[in-house]
Amino acid sequence: MAQAQVAVEKKQMRTPIESGCPDGMQYMHPLMVKNFGNWKYHDRPRPGVLHHVAYSGDEIWTVRVGTQRQLGPYEINLLCDIVDQYGEGYVRFTIRSNLEVMVSKWDKVGPLIQAFNDAGYPVGGTGNSVTMISHTQGWLHCDIPGTDASGVVKSLMDDLYTEFIKEEMPNRVHITTSCCQINCGGQGDIAINIQHTKPPKINHDLVANVCERPSVVARCPVAAIRPAMVNGKPSLEVDEKKCICCGACYPPCPPMQINDPVHSKLAIWVGGKNSNARSKPMFQKLVAAGLPNNPPRWPEVGAVVKKILYTYKKDARDWERVGDWVERIGWPRFFELTGLPFTKFHIDNWRGSRNSLNASTHIRF
Ligand code: SF4
Ligand code: SF4
Repeated sequence: MAQAQVAVEKKQMRTPIESGCPDGMQYMHPLMVKNFGNWKYHDRPRPGVLHHVAYSGDEIWTVRVGTQRQLGPYEINLLCDIVDQYGEGYVRFTIRSNLEVMVSKWDKVGPLIQAFNDAGYPVGGTGNSVTMISHTQGWLHCDIPGTDASGVVKSLMDDLYTEFIKEEMPNRVHITTSCCQINCGGQGDIAINIQHTKPPKINHDLVANVCERPSVVARCPVAAIRPAMVNGKPSLEVDEKKCICCGACYPPCPPMQINDPVHSKLAIWVGGKNSNARSKPMFQKLVAAGLPNNPPRWPEVGAVVKKILYTYKKDARDWERVGDWVERIGWPRFFELTGLPFTKFHIDNWRGSRNSLNASTHIRF
C-alpha cells in the first residue's frame, strides 16, 4: 500500500505544469460573457470610448486608457483602485499597451475618464487617432536590442498626446517601433526601426565557447560568414563586402557584437498596413535613415515623425491611410511635401527583392 502511494506521488510529481495564457472568459465582464457572439452593432460616442449594443438589448461602454506599458506596483495599484472605485472591476490590456475598462452604464463613463485624467492617464486611441505606439521589448526584457522601447515610446507619445486623445486624423495611424532589425518589430503607417550600419565586431576568444558555429553560418542571409581558425581557436569571419549589417548573427552568437552607440542608427519607414479595407495590405517603404539613436527622448526621430504625420494630416483625403495617401500623390510628391531628402539609398537595388518585397502581403502558394 505504502509502495503504491509512493508510486502515485511520483506520478503526480511528473505531471507537467501547464503554463501560458489562462482562459480569458473567466476575467470578462459578465455582460460580455452573457452576450458573447451576439453583438448587434458598436459606435464611438466620444474619442476613447467604444459602445457595444447586443441583440438582447444590453449595452456596454469600454474606456480606452493609454499607459506607459512598463507598469510598476505603484501604477498598477493606482489604476486598479480607479477601476474598482469608478468602474465595475473589469479590465483588459490591448496589444498596444492600452488599458480597457468596461462599464454597463453611460453615467459611469464621465467620472471614470475624469479619474484617469486626474491621475495623469489619457483616454483616447480609438477611431481616426494616432493609436498607442506598439513596440518591442527593449533593454528591459530582451538580450539583443540596439535601442530601448517603452521609454522612448513614452517620450514620443508625450509629443503626440493630442493626436491620441482626439480623432482628427484622416484615418487611424498605427506607429510601431522595433529595437532590432530582424525579429519581433512590426510594420505600420509609420515604423521606426533600428538600422545597423557596420558589420559585427567579433570577439574571437569567446566564439568557440559560446556559439554553435554552423547555426551562425546558416543564419546569415547573404552567406557572408564562414568558419575560420583565429589565434589557433575555432572562430568565424565575416566578408564585410557582402555583409548587409542585418544583425541576424548576433542573437545566436553574442560575441558577434553589432550594437554600437554611434553606428546603430534609426530608420523610418512609411505606408505599411495589414488591413485590406479600401486597398490591399501594403509593405512600408524606407523614407529616412541614419537618424541618431538618442534615447530617452529621440528628439531627431520625433521631429521626422511629426513632419510626416502633420503633412499627412493636412494633405490626405478622408479615410486614406498613410500608404493610400502616398500611393495617390506619388513618392516624389511625398518627399517634396515632407521636405525629407531623397538619396540613392532609397533605391532598392537588392537582387533578391523581386521575389520577396515585390509582392503583396496576401499569402500566395
Ligand atoms: S525587436 Fe529584436 S531586440 Fe527588440 S525585443 Fe524583439 S527580438 Fe529583442
Ligand atoms: S550582420 Fe547579417 S549579413 Fe552581416 S554577417 Fe551577420 S548575419 Fe550576415
